[in-house]
Amino acid sequence: MDILLPRTLDEALGMKSDHPEAVPIAGGTDLMVEMNLGHRRPPIALDVHRLPELRQWRCTDGTLFLGAGMTYVRIIRELPGFTALAQASRSVGSPQIRNRGTIGGNLGTASPAGDALPVMAACDAEVVLAASGGRTRALPWHQFLVGPKKTAIEPDELILGARWRVTRGPGSFSKVGRRNAMVIAIASLCLVLDEDRRAVRVALGSVGPTVLRVPQAEAFAAGALAEAGVWDDPAALLPPEVIEAFGERVAASARPIDDVRGTAAYRRHACGVLARRALRWAIEDRQAGPAGHGRPAGSWGARC
Ligand SMILES: Cc1cc2nc3c(=O)[nH]c(=O)nc-3n(C[C@H](O)[C@H](O)[C@H](O)COP(=O)(O)OP(=O)(O)OC[C@H]3O[C@@H](n4cnc5c(N)ncnc54)[C@H](O)[C@@H]3O)c2cc1C
Repeated sequence: MDILLPRTLDEALGMKSDHPEAVPIAGGTDLMVEMNLGHRRPPIALDVHRLPELRQWRCTDGTLFLGAGMTYVRIIRELPGFTALAQASRSVGSPQIRNRGTIGGNLGTASPAGDALPVMAACDAEVVLAASGGRTRALPWHQFLVGPKKTAIEPDELILGARWRVTRGPGSFSKVGRRNAMVIAIASLCLVLDEDRRAVRVALGSVGPTVLRVPQAEAFAAGALAEAGVWDDPAALLPPEVIEAFGERVAASARPIDDVRGTAAYRRHACGVLARRALRWAIEDRQAGPAGHGRPAGSWGARC
C-alpha cells in the first residue's frame, strides 16, 4: 500500500484529484479496524491527520466551524461550553480513541451509531467539502449522510469540517449501551433547546439507517413548553404526562432493527427513556440558568 503524506490542504486535494482511489486516513480508529479485519485494503492511503487546516475550529458571526481533524479530546478541552458536543465526545471509546478519533472520521464512516452525528443533526449542521482548484460545497447533514456507512462525498473531495449556527439554550447528548464506557450506542439522543426561536430539536442515533430527526415530537415539545409558559418563566413546570407523551412520540419516530446489540423493541423503549430524561434535564438547566449546576457562565449560552 502506498501512503501519501501531504503537508498542506492544497497538496492533499491535489493528491486526491490525481488519485481518487486514495482513502483518507485521519486518526485511523475506524479505518485500521476495517483493515485489520480484512474488510478493506485500500491501494493508497492519504494521511490527512497532520493537515493544519483541518485541525482548527472557529466561532465567528454566530457560527461554529469544527475542522474535520478536531479530535474528541480537543473538543472536550477547548469547547466545553458546547455541552451536547462535549458530552458526545466524552462518550466516545476510551482515552486513546478520543485522542486519535476525529469528527471528520465520524462523518466519513457515517455509522448510524457515530456519537458526534446526532449532535450535528440536532444543530442543523452543514458538512463542508473541498476539492482541488478551490472548489468547496456545503451539504446539510441529511444530504451528506445518505445511508448506513454511505455519504455523498465525491471521490476527489475531502471533508473540511462541519459548521452550524450557534443557538442559545441548554442541550444534552446521552446514549444507552451494554456498559457504561467503551461502548457502541444501542440508542443515542441529542436534544437542544433554541431559546431564541423557541424550538426543540431532537436527533436519534443507532435506531435507523442513519441519524434521524423527529419533527413531530419536536413540534409537540415546543408547543407544550409554550402552553406551560416555560419559555417565559423558567420556574414553570411541564406536567409529567406531557413529558411521558413526548417520550412516546420520540419512540414512535425511531426506525430500529434487531441486531446483535439489541432488539428493535428495546431500542424503541430506550429512545423514549432518553427523550424524557433529556427534556427534564433541559428544563432543569433552564431553571438553574446558563451558569447553573456549577458550570462556567454561558455554558448553555456559548456564543460566537
Ligand atoms: C475501540 C474503539 C471504540 C470506539 N468507540 C466509539 C464510540 O464510542 N463512539 C463513536 O462514535 N465511535 C467510536 N469508535 C469509532 C471511531 O473512533 C470514530 O468513528 C472516530 O470518529 C473515527 O475518526 P478517525 O479520525 O479515527 O477516522 P479514520 O479511521 O481515520 O477514518 C474513518 C473514515 O473517514 C474517512 N475520513 C477521515 N477523515 C476524512 C476527511 N477529512 N475527508 C474525507 N474522508 C475522511 C476515512 O477515509 C474513513 O473512511 C470506536 C473505535 C474503536 C476502535
